[in-house]
Amino acid sequence: MMTFRRYLRGSGRVLAFVFVASVIWLLLDIAVLRLSFSEFNLQLLKERVIREKELLKQQAKITQNRDFRSPVLRMDSAVIPEEDKGAVSSDITRIYRQGGRRHKEQNSNLQENHSNKTVSLVAPAKKPVDLLENDAPLLENITVKNNSIAESSIVTQDTVDGRKDAEIKPMKTAQHVKDESKQHQDTKEEPPVKRTHTPGTKTLVFKEENHTKMLSQSYQNSTVSRKAGVHKVLSLDVTGAPRDPTAIGQFGQAAVVPSDNEAEVKKRWDEGYFNVYLSDQIPVDRAIPDTRPDICARHLVHDDLPSTSVIFCFVDEVWSTLLRSVHSVLNRSPPHLLKEIILVDDFSTKDYLKDQLDKYMSQFPKVRIIRLKERQGLIRARLAGAAVAKGEVLTFLDSHVECNVGWLEPLLEQVYLDRRKVSCPVIDVISDQDMSYKMVDNFQRGIFKWPLVFGWSTLSSKYIKKNNMTEADPIRCPVMAGGLFSIDRQYFYELGAYDPGLDVWGGENMEISFKIWMCGGEIKIIPCSRVGHIFRGQNPYKFPKDRQKTVERNLARVAEVWLDEYKELFYGHGYHHLLDKSVIDVGNLTEQIELRNRLKCKSFKWYLDNVYPEMVTPLLKAKGLVYNRGLRKCLSLKKDSLSFEMCDLLNQSQQFNYTWLKHIRQQDLCVAPQVKYHSLVIESCDRANPGQRWLHKSSNSELPDHFVLEFSPNHVCLEAVHRSEKLRLAPCVAKSAYQKWKFTDYFSQ
Ligand code: UDP
Ligand code: MN
Repeated sequence: MMTFRRYLRGSGRVLAFVFVASVIWLLLDIAVLRLSFSEFNLQLLKERVIREKELLKQQAKITQNRDFRSPVLRMDSAVIPEEDKGAVSSDITRIYRQGGRRHKEQNSNLQENHSNKTVSLVAPAKKPVDLLENDAPLLENITVKNNSIAESSIVTQDTVDGRKDAEIKPMKTAQHVKDESKQHQDTKEEPPVKRTHTPGTKTLVFKEENHTKMLSQSYQNSTVSRKAGVHKVLSLDVTGAPRDPTAIGQFGQAAVVPSDNEAEVKKRWDEGYFNVYLSDQIPVDRAIPDTRPDICARHLVHDDLPSTSVIFCFVDEVWSTLLRSVHSVLNRSPPHLLKEIILVDDFSTKDYLKDQLDKYMSQFPKVRIIRLKERQGLIRARLAGAAVAKGEVLTFLDSHVECNVGWLEPLLEQVYLDRRKVSCPVIDVISDQDMSYKMVDNFQRGIFKWPLVFGWSTLSSKYIKKNNMTEADPIRCPVMAGGLFSIDRQYFYELGAYDPGLDVWGGENMEISFKIWMCGGEIKIIPCSRVGHIFRGQNPYKFPKDRQKTVERNLARVAEVWLDEYKELFYGHGYHHLLDKSVIDVGNLTEQIELRNRLKCKSFKWYLDNVYPEMVTPLLKAKGLVYNRGLRKCLSLKKDSLSFEMCDLLNQSQQFNYTWLKHIRQQDLCVAPQVKYHSLVIESCDRANPGQRWLHKSSNSELPDHFVLEFSPNHVCLEAVHRSEKLRLAPCVAKSAYQKWKFTDYFSQ
């Protein structure tokens, strides 16, 4: 004990203290460490709980998504009632789906197959479809997947009507029809894009997922805040009685005229500028091939789509085509979405379009007829129809169409997702010759070329790849064809509807397209919505005034209101004469211009850059120094007079523009001949003055490097005088170097 105490004395005591303190410190440390470990564990635990929660949430989402998609899976096996299945031979179904393709073989096939069978490809009338019960087995007219549709190809060239400027009639021609003979030529530049038709492949599933994703995404972006369920698009085709498979033109097949009746065909042709004789023999409720991409029949649309008023305007329409148009809407539209059909008679002269039509339509409570007291033209007739429409959406159609199965819901779905989306169906072709229903190429959109000529253009494969597009995806459409589209009724009026100053026909599709895009909306072509249309070579009705003048005037109104500085391109492509007020009176534009300001619409440049960037549109034909080959000097404008100087790119007085109006121009000043055409002056540019227009580099000119005075009856050219270095007008001499000029930059021929 003593020994122990001794140790605790002096330095030993200190050592013992240090030892004890260290032990305590160590213990404390361990405790703290344990504490922090458990805190760490707690943290980990927390994170795990959060992750698990997250996982649960995600699972819940997946389940929701699965629910969202499930109608597709369930509906697949329930597309056609068992009793009908036997009746439908796979051959007929194949033919039925293929539209105008493989036409000849199909036709012979069809006749054979039909000769001794009664085929009903429609929902039997006795079995009305309960439209509120969206999961009820819906009847479809297709059982067999079409795996044999030929490859479709990508065409990079625009198919704009190539007629001369002066003959603008073309508008909505059917150049986008895929005809068999053209197929090979079309594949020349791009590899063909195959349609993926094999059901159950990965691509198909992927596409479905894509669609579901797209649907929910666009729903999030929607301007409406509705929440609703979805259902598979309704592919209705209801008729009052089973269809006669042997009827002429049934299933959209080409109808053949016996040779001894050709005179009759000719005789009746002018009634509608198509085969009226055949049309009258084809059932008004014939079946047509379902030309939608396969995936469309599985697409989902919202349960609470808005209702629509379908508006048909007509003037002297052929009886059978008008009826077929109306029947196709009645038979193939979900009744709860079809508020009404409004027929606007634009002061037709034919008797059968009066009492007889009233009587016929009286059997359909949804059809209303409005009669205009004088001829208003298509634009004001549509406005009259819209004015009485009660549906939430307006759907305009031409009066010689056939709406295909499932045509309406995809159009309304777009409007539902965003009320500023204007949707157009793909316009399939009903042949004006044999009335067959033909499917058109995929990936087509409406465009314009100068001077505001409508045309169709196929999306490039690069664009399709870049945007990861499938053949069923909506296509941004710079210009709509005009006759067939759905638009939210209120939005139509917010946009100021159509310019009521547009007469009879023409240009209205440009006007509404520019207006929609530039004022915040969008135009989409919906490949899952198909409507056949008879494209005709001529308008079968009279124009109260000259046809050409009417269309030109309409286009000039559109150009003046919407094109900004680009209107020079419109006038510069063959419409210079419209600048002369004594030639044409475009009427008052104040309201239209005010409307554009009020809506704060974007510029035409914005439209070109953002909606139609593929259109190369230089604002000038050429610019820079104006070099004279003989003098080897450049034109200069100083103190309102022209002279020559050594060329100097930095000298502003040597900078000129050559414009679409063919002006040689510096700011607002233009080079012009003096009254007696011998010398030159500088004067304020006047777009209506033909005396200021110089031809230069014009195609097929024998004097491409010259400045030829356009106005002069004789060939008069701008010439540099060798000695005095002045300018004068002289008879054109092809070889004269003093009459040859060159700008620094050329943007267009
Ligand atoms: N239409 C009309 N009044 C007119 C011109 C045309 O009601 O003054 C109708 C015509 O009957 C058709 C629609 O407007 O239903 C579109 O005309 P059209 O088919 O001639 O145009 P396209 O298809 O050739 O562009
Ligand atoms: Mn038409």
